[in-house]
Amino acid sequence: MDNKQFLMYNIVMIAISLGISITLSLFLPFYLSLPLIIVIFNLINFYMRNRMMKKMGGGAGMFGSLSSPFSGNSINYYCMSCGTKHKEAACPRCGSKMKRVG
Ligand SMILES: [Zn+2]
Repeated sequence: MDNKQFLMYNIVMIAISLGISITLSLFLPFYLSLPLIIVIFNLINFYMRNRMMKKMGGGAGMFGSLSSPFSGNSINYYCMSCGTKHKEAACPRCGSKMKRVG
């Protein structure tokens, strides 16, 4: 698979996920479809990132703003209050336990 094929593959995956999202939002009430859509997008995103890492061996560039799995030892957490990247149970800067995986 070269870069052009890879780009096409990504576009197809995004189209599929959009299709699933639209279909879900048509058949399910918003409060049910939204969490499902988020889960589906996360799964596809995770899957694509894994593929990309294998193809590009490090994956610099394309998704530079997203944190790479190689930037830390494993998963990074970001404080939901102040945005600090940390791996503690609570944020070392503001003490908030609300965090998101990045
Ligand atoms: Zn914080």
